[in-house]
Amino acid sequence: MGANRTTASALVLPFLFLYVAAAAAAPADRHVVLVTLDGVRVQELFNGMDPVIANATEAESGIYEAEVTRERYWRDTPALRREALMPFFWKTLVPNGLVLGNPALGSRMTVRNDQWFSYPGYSEILTGEPQPEIKSNDFVRYPHETVLDHVHRKFALEPAAVAQIGCWDGFKYAASQKDGTFFMSGAYDLVPPELSTPEMDLLGGLRRQVMELWEEGSNDVLTYHIALSYLKKHRPRLLWLGLGQSDDWSHARRYDRLLDYLHLVDGLIAGLWQTLQTDDHYRGRTTLIVTTDHGRGRTPADWAEHDVGIEGSQDIWIAIIGPDTPARGELRDVAGVTQSDIAATLLQYFGLDHREFNPDAGPPIPGSLGGNPP
Ligand SMILES: [Zn+2]
Repeated sequence: MGANRTTASALVLPFLFLYVAAAAAAPADRHVVLVTLDGVRVQELFNGMDPVIANATEAESGIYEAEVTRERYWRDTPALRREALMPFFWKTLVPNGLVLGNPALGSRMTVRNDQWFSYPGYSEILTGEPQPEIKSNDFVRYPHETVLDHVHRKFALEPAAVAQIGCWDGFKYAASQKDGTFFMSGAYDLVPPELSTPEMDLLGGLRRQVMELWEEGSNDVLTYHIALSYLKKHRPRLLWLGLGQSDDWSHARRYDRLLDYLHLVDGLIAGLWQTLQTDDHYRGRTTLIVTTDHGRGRTPADWAEHDVGIEGSQDIWIAIIGPDTPARGELRDVAGVTQSDIAATLLQYFGLDHREFNPDAGPPIPGSLGGNPP
């Protein structure tokens, strides 16, 4: 992976073929599913129901029935609270993989972009560095190769073999520098007939009927099932599933609904992992990466919001499970990892070198591949 291709190809042509053969052999069967959960704070992920918000006024938390929410998610310790909130994540995913980003364990992870909202965050995730010209969530394509573009190009894949499926049109624009390179599907797009199944048609139709909190985002459960259906039908090498209702319920200042959503999405991730493990094509060769585009405020006043200047919006996290990821659990004292390191981390599971992808991309997360030091 560290071979210098320019030198090899210029000086010793036979070695180039050896290098290509070696590089292609190991990752030939590897697959990655990237799941992003929009604007999920480290507070809920690592500690479950946050006492700061739980003890805030009703106007600040937006909790409708405090007793119900407390019974569901309040426990005496952070460890118990996070397990009550996201049982699959904490009892299965983390013990068999890793999670990074807990500031209390010296493993703070942050974004490097100076915007602290969605499009700049997704672009940083997918291109390996902040893109300074992205200063809005406008639906615009920018001329930077993404990890989806790169995997598609390096393995010369069919258009259906790389896929972006999400509840927001912004994902479709962030996914690629070019229209139509691979399968991209926005908030209310129907899967085109040549790729669709009756199940995808039904789900796509329902997605247009189910009214969400705000019209710009479609329903996450339906979007998830479209992705699952697509996965079974087309078996993509790389799938990016973008979910967003965590951001919606937060902006709506409904902490109770946010917690219910996180519990729900934990079950969806469990279902996704089970699906991968029961499919011969995916079992034992697929890495699942779960992360977020930005954090949010830390106080009762600003937890619902995020933006540059709202402290906490820069705090993010990442979790990984797969055949090439050591079971390290919760990483301690791994400081300095940023959102710019996610692209290289993802590419390493395909045996691809991030320096060839983008010389300015961050490095893979330490300890995220077997054999690396923790
Ligand atoms: Zn937001």
